[in-house]
Amino acid sequence: MSATTQATVAFIGLGNMGGPMASNLVKAGFKVQAFDLSATALAQLASEGAKACASAAEAATGAEFIISMLPAGKHVAMTYTGDTGIASVINKDALVIDCSTIDASTARKVGADLAALGIAFIDAPVSGGVGGARAGTLTFIVGGSAQNFNRAQPVLSAMGKNLFHAGDVGAGQVAKICNNMLLSILMVGTSEALQLGIDNGLDPKTLSDIMLKSSGRNWTLELYNPCPDVMPNVPSSNGYQGGFMVDLMAKDLSLATETALSSQSSTPMGTLARSLYVAHQRQGHGKEDFSGIFQMFGKKN
Ligand code: NAD
Repeated sequence: MSATTQATVAFIGLGNMGGPMASNLVKAGFKVQAFDLSATALAQLASEGAKACASAAEAATGAEFIISMLPAGKHVAMTYTGDTGIASVINKDALVIDCSTIDASTARKVGADLAALGIAFIDAPVSGGVGGARAGTLTFIVGGSAQNFNRAQPVLSAMGKNLFHAGDVGAGQVAKICNNMLLSILMVGTSEALQLGIDNGLDPKTLSDIMLKSSGRNWTLELYNPCPDVMPNVPSSNGYQGGFMVDLMAKDLSLATETALSSQSSTPMGTLARSLYVAHQRQGHGKEDFSGIFQMFGKKN
């Protein structure tokens, strides 16, 4: 085991993603000092060998890496900066790694506020979901300097398989929402195409096979068919349970829309996909997998 794998890592936010990610760091030999508002989540990680801390500040004290996996930008800003922030206890030679999916402008602001205190920061949002977090196969999409990207590699490698350097601070967040916006558009397009075929007498499996060998081929058809019973072991064949929740897709699409507004980018398909996912969420499907958007195009009564 290298010296780096013995580094002390503070981990803040032990939810569906952060819990298993921190667990993989413990398994890899890092000394993990953890904090979450949930006592249950904290106790679970402590039972696996992490030190349970009473606050984010206690967790960050003496750590070489500080990782956060929190719900949204306001939680990240509150954790690090301002009156409630922990910046003052962070070692000057530590690296802060925020893995949450948040707006790029907050990531840049937190990065700049920490930089003003001499503390290094990268944004490192992830792709791969809860399954990837458990298996240690996440994709990390990093924004920050090349030097800090390199410094983070031993820690990120213990939780993921693919590490990308997208650009400066904030670039990880931008790349992540570009990907998820495209994914949602592909999912909606695939769903409506499949239903059009079904409405006109085609078998969805046969149509999927045809499109997979034709120019409509895409990730959703290859690995995540939204039509029930076309593919085994995907959420559509399991009542849209598990997978990537509509609530999270709606959140990411809202971040994409905000980003597009601030850069005056034209994203008509992404904006429409956001409206469809928000409508689907409002119909009570927020906790279901995002491939369930297929139901929106379903049978006529
Ligand atoms: P979650 O709600 O399961 O976990 C969030 C955790 O943060 C909770 O345990 C909560 O108690 C804790 N928390 C909130 N505020 C806190 C604070 N101030 N201090 C300490 N702990 C605090 O969410 P999740 O599914 O783990 O997602 C976390 C982040 O990862 C989000 O930004 C999400 O968009 C992103 N993400 C999630 C998935 C997924 O499939 N779940 C995939 C990719 C990215």
